[in-house]
Amino acid sequence: MAGTGVFAEILDRDVYKYYADGEWKNSSSAKTVAIINPTSRKTQYRVQACTQEEVNKVMDSAKTAQKLWTKTPLWKRAELLHKAAAILKEHKAPIAECLVKEIAKPVKDAVTETTLFSFDFFKVVRSGDLVSYTAEEGVRILGEGKFLISDSFPGNERTKYCLTSKIPLGVILAIPPFNYPVNLAVSKIAPALIAGNSLVLKPPTQGAVSALHMVHCFHLAGFPKGLISCVTGKGSEIGDFLTMHPGVNCISFTGGDTGIAISKKAGMIPLQMELGGKDACIVLEDADINLVAANIIKGGFSYSGQRCTAVKVVLVMESIADALVEKVNAEIAKLKVGPPEDDCDITPVVSETSANFIEGLVKDAKEKGATFCQEYNRDGNLIWPLLLDNVRPDMRIAWEEPFGPVLPVIRINTIEEGIHHCNASNFGLQGCVFTKDINKAILISDAMETGTVQINSAPARGPDHFPFQGLKDSGIGSQGVANSIKMMTKIKSTVINLPTPSYTMGNGGHSKL
Ligand code: NAP
Repeated sequence: MAGTGVFAEILDRDVYKYYADGEWKNSSSAKTVAIINPTSRKTQYRVQACTQEEVNKVMDSAKTAQKLWTKTPLWKRAELLHKAAAILKEHKAPIAECLVKEIAKPVKDAVTETTLFSFDFFKVVRSGDLVSYTAEEGVRILGEGKFLISDSFPGNERTKYCLTSKIPLGVILAIPPFNYPVNLAVSKIAPALIAGNSLVLKPPTQGAVSALHMVHCFHLAGFPKGLISCVTGKGSEIGDFLTMHPGVNCISFTGGDTGIAISKKAGMIPLQMELGGKDACIVLEDADINLVAANIIKGGFSYSGQRCTAVKVVLVMESIADALVEKVNAEIAKLKVGPPEDDCDITPVVSETSANFIEGLVKDAKEKGATFCQEYNRDGNLIWPLLLDNVRPDMRIAWEEPFGPVLPVIRINTIEEGIHHCNASNFGLQGCVFTKDINKAILISDAMETGTVQINSAPARGPDHFPFQGLKDSGIGSQGVANSIKMMTKIKSTVINLPTPSYTMGNGGHSKL
């Protein structure tokens, strides 16, 4: 159970502690932040509201710990990460329990088992695998350097040898979003640590308790004190202080428009930004309707549409639109709607604010004449799955990310129309195209301004070693295990200068030696 057994020390009465200097602590603020259960809409947990002074101390110890950690052999860093991964997997049940209670993840998916939406990646087990894979990738990527010789650049003799290696950046600040508070935290923690950095985590408020349990698994693995810290509190209250802190050498952030604001304030440090998306699904006349419908259900409605790579708009050729809509409606009718504890497919969205926002998009679409394929139904934060047909570009839902189980369908008459809609978006995360004509699919993929295009499957992050990136307002930089490790390091060169060109040795007696 959460907060018991090995996790008992992270809880003090009803409030979860924050983690600093290798210890679990209560904040001197004597203030707490409530985490609301999305299903009951009552307070489920409480976490500490950390102060600026506590953040300062965390940054100091992160800096000190990093200086020693960078001297720790790479194989040893990897060994500790493997240990943390094993502990994380061992304790999947209490962590999954928190995911169910604080972010309404369907219970089976939160642990490990496959369900209708089996590709989902929040699973605790998948997070453990990600940590282990990163340890393995790290020893190879970081175990290699380069050797350059000067005479390949015009005007140079062979008098300089350059040795390059990858060095850590220092203190990495990691800020994940509510929808994957464990997986999207470890995707930042593991590359940071294997590369020799220290890490300060600011978990999302909804998801903080899952993240604190995950951090305890790293604590149990025996990482040096101060190397990993976790400060809790509302982003709106401590976020700016953290992201503008002079002790931070790199920010790895996943979330919504907050990331755009952070990138304007952060200063001259590397940023990894994974932001929102409006992933388009382009469906051509020759597509396999059953395949498309299955992917629209999986891509558009898993975890109630609260995924960055959810299908967020369907752009279907008019000639097959009726058949596709009919098929998708038949599949929607089979979705189980209800609490996450009952392992429903559609569970309450994360907050009342989010539910109200989704409702605003639905009302706007109704006023402007969209066709409702199902009746709009809401109970608290629970919104029944809804397909909106005949959506037009003047409707907000055509462009905005609902982050809920509501999916717009726009009927198109040409491929160009579909590509135009996709590229007119501020976002450019992923997209997908369904057709049996691979040549057309590749041409469309080339034309779509998104970080990734999936052919004949719904957008998805992963497998975790694949590159993952967004264009435009969808982000800066690229994730994926190898890319994250490289992003959290810098090249260091050492140049060996010779008194005479090296090729003179044994070459006609020109050497002075
Ligand atoms: P969000 O509101 O932007 O919050 C993300 C994180 O930022 C949370 O930890 C939040 O903490 C923190 N935060 C809030 N204000 C801050 C500030 N001023 N300074 C620093 N941090 C601050 O996003 P969300 O609602 O959690 O997540 C949904 C969004 O994430 C969607 O737009 C989705 O598309 C995007 N997302 C993108 C990816 C991707 O890989 N591209 C993956 C998943 C999700 P609090 O919770 O305490 O406010």
